[in-house]
Amino acid sequence: MDIAKFKLKLKEEQQKLEEQLSQIGRRNPSNPDDWEPQFNERNEQHSAQDEMADKFEDMEQTLALQDTYEKRLAAVRDAIGRIENGTYGKCNCGKDIPEERLEADPAASCMCGSHN
Ligand SMILES: [Zn+2]
Repeated sequence: MDIAKFKLKLKEEQQKLEEQLSQIGRRNPSNPDDWEPQFNERNEQHSAQDEMADKFEDMEQTLALQDTYEKRLAAVRDAIGRIENGTYGKCNCGKDIPEERLEADPAASCMCGSHN
């Protein structure tokens, strides 16, 4: 198995996810694994009520997106951690992860659903 190739893919994805997270939130200064949402003020003219509704919608979307990115980032970090401690290619449940699954998604688990 070409671990270096998977590591490179994972590192690239980690960087991309961190970039995306930094666009919609900011890193918690006391916990670098935690991202806080950050909402931009809008310049458009709206009635106060519309603006509240829009903000609420934006906030929900941003939170959902942030949640998706954070979960993915955690899975990517977990996979990088397994490369570093030499257990890459094994799922948390102890089974080997088929290489074709790793090709499609280098942060994949086996199909047991024990994590991710
Ligand atoms: Zn498993």
